[in-house]
Amino acid sequence: MNPDSSSAAGTFEQVFGAPPQGVWAAPGRVNLIGEHTDYNAGFVMPLALPHATVAAVSRRDDGVLALASDGMPGGPAELRTDTLAPGVRPDWTAYPAGVVWALREAGHTVGGACVSVTSTVPAGAGLSSSAALEVATALALNDLYALGLTREELATLCRRAENAYVGVPSGIMDQMASACCTAGHVLHLDTRDLIRRQVPFDLAAAGLRLLVIDTRVTHDLADGGYAERRAACTEAAAALGAGSLREIPHEGLADALGRLPDARLRRAARHVVTENRRVERVVELLDAGRPRDIGPVLDAGHVSLRDDFRVSCPELDLATGAARAAGALGARMTGGGFGGSALALVEAASAETVGRAVTGAFAAAGYRTPRVFEAVASAGARRLDAGVPG
Ligand code: ADP
Ligand code: MG
Repeated sequence: MNPDSSSAAGTFEQVFGAPPQGVWAAPGRVNLIGEHTDYNAGFVMPLALPHATVAAVSRRDDGVLALASDGMPGGPAELRTDTLAPGVRPDWTAYPAGVVWALREAGHTVGGACVSVTSTVPAGAGLSSSAALEVATALALNDLYALGLTREELATLCRRAENAYVGVPSGIMDQMASACCTAGHVLHLDTRDLIRRQVPFDLAAAGLRLLVIDTRVTHDLADGGYAERRAACTEAAAALGAGSLREIPHEGLADALGRLPDARLRRAARHVVTENRRVERVVELLDAGRPRDIGPVLDAGHVSLRDDFRVSCPELDLATGAARAAGALGARMTGGGFGGSALALVEAASAETVGRAVTGAFAAAGYRTPRVFEAVASAGARRLDAGVPG
C-alpha cells in the first residue's frame, strides 16, 4: 500500500525508455466530518489516507504531454499542450491534462512532460482518487518547472482543472486535503478563505481505530444528484439574502428555516448549517482529548445526510447501521454520497468484529463484498525520490 518510488520509476522506464527525473506522491483522503459544506464556504475535516497516487515524471520541452497510467489500458496518450481545451478529452487524461491547462491559463510556463501514474487509491470510491491524480501531477510540474507555487495555490489550480476542464463541479476540499494534510493530523479547513489548522488525531493512542468501508457502489459526481444539491444550496442562500449558507449561524437556523419557501430548500439549509456546527463540535472534542465522544456527532451527520440532504443509499445505510449494531462508537457516510465509502469509529479491540459484521450484513443483503480498511492519518503530497533538485 505504501507508495514506492523505485517501482513507479521502473514502470515509467518501461513506458518511456528512460528513468524519470522525479517521483511524486499525493494521497487519497477520507473526510471525518463536514460533508457537502465545501461548496457552501463551510468547514471540512479530512485526513490523508496511506493510499496514494504516485506520478513518475520527466520534463520535456517539445510541447507534448505524454500520459500513461497502470490503471488504464493502452500505451501513453500524447496531447499537445498548446491545444488543450476543456471538454476535448472526456477520459482519465483530462485530470492531468486539466492541471497543465490550468497552470498555463494562469500564465505559468509548462512546455510538456512524460507522466506515468501508479495508484493505490480506489477510483470512484469517494476517497478522492481524482484529486490525488491532479495534485501529484501539479506538485511534479511545480518542481520540474520551478514554478514556486504554494500548496494552497496548487490545490486551487487543481480544483480549477477538475471544475473547468474535466467538468466536475466539486469544491476545494479534496485538493486541499491531498496537498496539505500531514501525518497524525486531521485538517480543519475553512473553505471560505482556506484558513486551516492541523488538529492532532492519534486514535491509536486512545485505543481507537477509524475504519473505512468502501461499499464498491460507484458514484458519479458528474450526474444530476450532486448538481441538484448544489443548486438547492445556492437557491436557499439567495432566498435568505446570504452569499452562502455558511453565513447562516446555527443560532439563527430556526429563523432561517421559517423564511425559506419550500421543504427542499429547508432540508438543504438545515443540513449545511448543522453540519458546520458538527465540524466545530468535533474540533472541540478532539482538542479536549475526548475522541470517543465524536461518535454521536458522526451518527448525527449520517442522519442529516440521509434524511435532509438525501445523498445516502441503501448500501451506505446498511454499512453504518451494521457497524453501529456491532459496537462502533459512531458511523457515517463520507464523501459525496450515492455510493462510495462510509467510516466507523471503533474501539481497537472491536475493529475486527465490526468489519466482519459489515461484511456479513452485505452478504446477507446480496450486495458486493465491501472493502474494509483502517484509515491512519497519513502524509500529504510529497516528493518521494531525492531526485534532481526541484
Ligand atoms: P473519486 O475521486 O472519488 O475517486 P472521481 O469520479 O472524482 O472519484 O474520480 C475518478 C476518476 O479519476 C477515474 O474515473 C479516472 O478517470 C480518474 N483516475 C483516478 N485515479 C486514476 C489513476 N490512477 N489512473 C487513471 N485515472 C485515474
Ligand atoms: Mg473525485
